[in-house]
Amino acid sequence: MIDSEPIYCISEEYGVLGAEVLQLKRQDLLDLGVAVGFISSSKKKTRGKTQLVYGECKKVPEIWKLYCPYDFVIIIYDLNCEHLDDKQMKILMWHELLHIGIDDKGEPYVKPHDVEEFDDIIKEYGLRWDS
Ligand SMILES: [Zn+2]
Repeated sequence: MIDSEPIYCISEEYGVLGAEVLQLKRQDLLDLGVAVGFISSSKKKTRGKTQLVYGECKKVPEIWKLYCPYDFVIIIYDLNCEHLDDKQMKILMWHELLHIGIDDKGEPYVKPHDVEEFDDIIKEYGLRWDS
């Protein structure tokens, strides 16, 4: 089973992309000194049975910071992203960085999506059918 074990590694490539997107879209995080690490994984992660997971944003638990110099890590699932072009990878990186919310006290937290919807509803009624 060793062959199928997920592999995680620190990604310089995603670090460069992440730094670029942070500067363009999340200067607020840089200003607050929020440190983000970037990891690539060869795991073919899915949500439910079939929905591909491109990336995830995770908050580093306080005690783990003794060993990990980041507040958040963004994991990009390489094999699920093979069909994405450079522009789409930037959008994905922005998406993951948008999961870092800042609360009223200036504390960062993992922010859920603004919208969750099915394709069939979107096709027939649009994304904002409730407003
Ligand atoms: Zn997301």
